[in-house]
Amino acid sequence: MSFLPRHLGPDAAETGIMLETVGAADLDELVARAVPRGIASDEPLPLPEPMSEHEALTALRRIAAKNRVMTQMIGQGYAETVTPPALRRNILENPAWYTSYTPYQPEISQGRLEALLTFQNAVMDLTGLDLANASLLDEATAVAEAVLMMRRANRRSGSRRVAVDSHSLPQTLAVLRGRCRAVGIDLVVADLSEGLPEGEFFGVVLTQVGVDGDVADLAERTEQAHAQGALVAVATDLLALTLLRSPGEQGADIAVGSAQRFGVPLFFGGPHAAFMACRKGLERNLPGRLVGVSVDSSGRPAYRLALQTREQHIRREKATSNICTAQALLAIVAGAYAAYHGADGLRAIAERVHRLAARLAEGLTAAGVPVVHDTFFDTVLAQVPGRADAVVAAAAERGVNIRRADADHVSVSVGEPHDERDVDAVLAAFGAPAPEDGTAGWDLPAALLRTDSYLAHPVFTLHRSETAMMRWLRSLADKDLALDRTMIPLGSCTMKLNAAAEMEPISWPEFASIHPLAPEEQTVGYRELIAQLESWLAEITGYAAVSVQPNAGSQGELAGLLAIRRYHLSRGDDRRTTILIPSSAHGTNAASAVLADLKVVVVATAEDGSVDLDDLDAKIAAVGDELAGIMITYPSTHGVFEEQVTAVCAAVHDAGGQVYVDGANLNALMGLARPGRFGGDVSHLNLHKTFCIPHGGGGPGVGPVAVAEHLVPFLPEDPAAADAGAGAETFPVSQARYGSAGVLPISWMYIAMAGAEGLTASSRTAILSANYVSARLADVFPTLYTGPGGLVAHECILDLRPLTKASGVTAEDVCKRLVDYGFHAPTLAFPVAGTLMVEPTESENLAELDRFVAAMRSIHAEMQAVADGEVALEDSVLRHAPHTAEVLTADSWERAYPRSQAAYPLPELRLAKYWVPVGRVENAAGDRNLVCSCPPIEAFASAAPAEAAR
Ligand SMILES: *Cc1c(COP(=O)(O)O)cnc(C)c1O
Repeated sequence: MSFLPRHLGPDAAETGIMLETVGAADLDELVARAVPRGIASDEPLPLPEPMSEHEALTALRRIAAKNRVMTQMIGQGYAETVTPPALRRNILENPAWYTSYTPYQPEISQGRLEALLTFQNAVMDLTGLDLANASLLDEATAVAEAVLMMRRANRRSGSRRVAVDSHSLPQTLAVLRGRCRAVGIDLVVADLSEGLPEGEFFGVVLTQVGVDGDVADLAERTEQAHAQGALVAVATDLLALTLLRSPGEQGADIAVGSAQRFGVPLFFGGPHAAFMACRKGLERNLPGRLVGVSVDSSGRPAYRLALQTREQHIRREKATSNICTAQALLAIVAGAYAAYHGADGLRAIAERVHRLAARLAEGLTAAGVPVVHDTFFDTVLAQVPGRADAVVAAAAERGVNIRRADADHVSVSVGEPHDERDVDAVLAAFGAPAPEDGTAGWDLPAALLRTDSYLAHPVFTLHRSETAMMRWLRSLADKDLALDRTMIPLGSCTMKLNAAAEMEPISWPEFASIHPLAPEEQTVGYRELIAQLESWLAEITGYAAVSVQPNAGSQGELAGLLAIRRYHLSRGDDRRTTILIPSSAHGTNAASAVLADLKVVVVATAEDGSVDLDDLDAKIAAVGDELAGIMITYPSTHGVFEEQVTAVCAAVHDAGGQVYVDGANLNALMGLARPGRFGGDVSHLNLHKTFCIPHGGGGPGVGPVAVAEHLVPFLPEDPAAADAGAGAETFPVSQARYGSAGVLPISWMYIAMAGAEGLTASSRTAILSANYVSARLADVFPTLYTGPGGLVAHECILDLRPLTKASGVTAEDVCKRLVDYGFHAPTLAFPVAGTLMVEPTESENLAELDRFVAAMRSIHAEMQAVADGEVALEDSVLRHAPHTAEVLTADSWERAYPRSQAAYPLPELRLAKYWVPVGRVENAAGDRNLVCSCPPIEAFASAAPAEAAR
């Protein structure tokens, strides 16, 4: 059975009906009319023949078998952990969790918001700080974000310098070197255990648990830094914090780190959730998303993303950071891991890990092998003059990977699944016998131990049996709308099928249990898969080379813009520092440009939604030889194929600039046109949109960067390379060489099963579906912009503004009313305020498209009734939407519309009804009074709205 008909929603008959509706004889004709001739490519993509699900899984198993699963005791920011099967099956492998979208629509996202809040609460407790965000991309970039945050927050300091501990993880230093250099921050790396270096700093980055395992006392250094006017960020380890005094207690302003060892597999480097916590007063500078508590229309507690106005979507080049997609799914796993084990369970794991490390230290010293640091948590550094390679090899022979620190030192890191046998195998590799007796001599000093309690909220005790955990996760998932219940017609986000066959392999130990720093001979399969995927993506985009390192689209943008900037510098063009960005661009574009130290000049949009060519010429002339390039999205964020794109590219090239094509919309281009051939020098793609990696409620993501030949030397480098980040040309943008490698099998499977024919069919059907929805709604909600032949690309912007003007009903009201119809809202107010952008994708069948059309048409009638004065806006079913069961079943009912109209506006809803758990959530109330930890359980019961629904 071929995969393609499973991936595509409409079958042949449905396709015929849809073609008739849009007025095209067949798909060839539709595509020929929609895609401008100037960019269309005729040659088929040179990809392998499509495989069935079974064939592809078999082929992938063969590749996976070339990876070698070992006992991983390398450490260096990655610890082996046990993913409780209850969490793997109920979260990681459960479409209700992995297919959900970022919780921008809070009413249909209460479950994942609660799960993320649990994560935040665990991080706050363990770090001893007031506030934590809902994840960042990885530890190294989180440290980079902390440095930028300290610079923003520390306005009083005139310094451009940051001091960073030399005990930091090497990949953190590699990323920091590149990121600081890009924005003109002087990075001073020094051994901070000996005091701060001379001079002024705006910030200091301490390391609580060093790469060699040494545990630092932070209090004195923090005090010294504060006395000098510097802010302090601490890189730390959540499991160690169950035993150690928290950074907050020791005066830190910010804490960051990786939550990987809270139940998330090694995945060859990612995806893993990084965390960031801060003290009160810094919240407005905090990057990433923050879940907070507010109230709904009944006055009940309800969760939503707090302080959203900080987001890069809204603030563009003034944003606090460019992070959009983060690591929500992995943060949810980490939060659930904390809830599953609770404080005592986590402490027991930490104590056991420390005891095993102590056993190792005891055995080594007894055998005359010196241990460098007496104070350690999970990692022991042994001194083996000239023998490091031999010891590492001897351990590998026993099935254990350990870390070569240098020619004379090795370190060994203990993780949750390890036991005495593993430790004794390592000891044998040193030639040391298993120790006879106790490990008491290696206790952590009392001064370093924490005495406060943590994880006291009931969420960390109520779900400790598997039955309770399973039901908690189910009850949370039941509150949410994900792709397992409804289409998610989010323009620009491409919420398409994440097929089970694509998802299965990520749990295979040959992919899940590989350490990113494992020796190359153990990772042959991974590297084969990645090389194949990168070459396929290069073919699909028409570029010379691709790097999968960036962990999200935003990071691909940063990598691509840094490539442009460094390319110009390599040619002595140090003045080229201005990037043109159309006003309709995704907010991350401008935010990323700032991180690459590029000045943003906005190009206007013409009447028809395309780039205003006159304004472009004017801006190019005004910028002169400072032009670094232009960043455009294709098809444009307006969902149309602009015919003049080649003219735009040529104008910029003629002026000496480079062209960045944001490839997040590649779902309209696969097999039809290639950005690398129609004028782009560099693009990023979003594998979590076009290439089937699920959205995970806001991550993971993979944002590969693709470049033309002349930019190849500027692709991201291996953060593990010697002196990484210090060179003029390349730089790392993630802490792991291949970024979120663990989810790359998903995109590999999609391309392998689809083949050239399937990818092209995906794009063609996506274009058909968007045009079908546009045509079916044209008389009620006209599509704002169309391209050649009056057609859209893969999405359409529905213009609600005229009816909003006549009725007062806003696009947001429509989003909330769609919840009553069981739908996730389309993209709201992007890129045009007052509109909805709909992207149905190729995976929705005709019945589902028609269900959406029917809902929108019914809502239109409801709006019209308000416009016609039949119902007052404030009394309308739209303004009161969404409707909870509790409101609808209140003992008395005084609304201007019947209950049945609120609940069952269309008859089909009586057969399948989604009951929203909360009414409309008030954003402002929650931002005025910011609460970002789990509220007491009583808060929910006591606020029950007993009175009549008014
Ligand atoms: C989604 C998107 C981005 C950002 O991608 P993330 O992975 O969320 O960082 C950038 N540009 C466009 C056009 C997008 O749709």
